[in-house]
Amino acid sequence: MRATVYHGSRDMRIDQVPDPRISAPTDVIARITHAGICGSDLWSYRGIYQRKQGERMGHEWMGIVEEVGAEVRTIKKGDRVISPFLISDGTCEFCREGLPSSCIHGERWGGSNNGGQAEAIRVPYADGTLVVIPKSVEDDEQLLKAIFPLTDVMATGHHAAVTAKVRAGSTVAVIGDGAVGLCGVLAAKRLRAERIFLIGHQEARLNLGRAFGATDIITARDERAVQEVREQTHGGAEAVLECVGILEAMNMAIHMTRPGRSVSCVGFAHMNQAPDLTRRLFQNITITGGVAPARAYLPELLQDVIAGTLDPSPVLDMTVDLAGVPAGYAAMDKRTTIKVLVHP
Ligand SMILES: [Zn+2]
Repeated sequence: MRATVYHGSRDMRIDQVPDPRISAPTDVIARITHAGICGSDLWSYRGIYQRKQGERMGHEWMGIVEEVGAEVRTIKKGDRVISPFLISDGTCEFCREGLPSSCIHGERWGGSNNGGQAEAIRVPYADGTLVVIPKSVEDDEQLLKAIFPLTDVMATGHHAAVTAKVRAGSTVAVIGDGAVGLCGVLAAKRLRAERIFLIGHQEARLNLGRAFGATDIITARDERAVQEVREQTHGGAEAVLECVGILEAMNMAIHMTRPGRSVSCVGFAHMNQAPDLTRRLFQNITITGGVAPARAYLPELLQDVIAGTLDPSPVLDMTVDLAGVPAGYAAMDKRTTIKVLVHP
């Protein structure tokens, strides 16, 4: 089959690789119908996160099950399935506590494992990892496109909103107008926040943020953005969603949080430096968030998408086939697109 393979910085190729095969009785094999290129894949693309040549790419995918291992109980051949961006067994102590991202048998897609930007994939711990999409959805392509962001960015935006304790009537600030930030706006709106500030710099993305429920757009940078939020909220936002993952954004987030409230950091961070813990201390600010336990959120969010009350599909503003994946990376790198959907 064909799959996306890392050959070096800015060198993703579609290579011929061996077909996936069941290797444990808890595996299934799925044919991939939808995959995504993630902002976090760009860390590899840009050579900041060093991969080995030959590693597979892609951790966001949906597909149709073609082969089922002998011990798989809940997934059948022919089922349409969605996968979260992490593998989990569904049975260990952390999975049972609602934190499948810390599963003791947890693995990542991509790397030396299977990647999602491919024609097919082997799924370890299929019962724990996958969620079956109801038959009622069938081949409704628009609905499938709305479901797809639940693999990662929508689950992550939701995690940011939940951990920052967004609730009805909250004043929320979202830092970052990428796919996760935009999904954070949707999530805050879904949790009935009253006022949602979106901080970003790209007009088209900010307009989409407005359509998703942002009530206030802030294009000022750094300290001036902090000032604006603090002035307009009379002391800071009650919940801040940091969806960038760099030190400057985390410090902005901490400084625009209302004393006693929470800032959730879900940006894919590669840093060793701590943010401003002095303000955290003196203003009793909770720093929370982390990698989203997407598998735990999937059933609830899937229900809302199917019911038509949640639709993150507009973040997928470019569609390619497998051959178009390298061009998709280039477009995301140049920020000419928010997020790429791949139809293998
Ligand atoms: Zn587990």
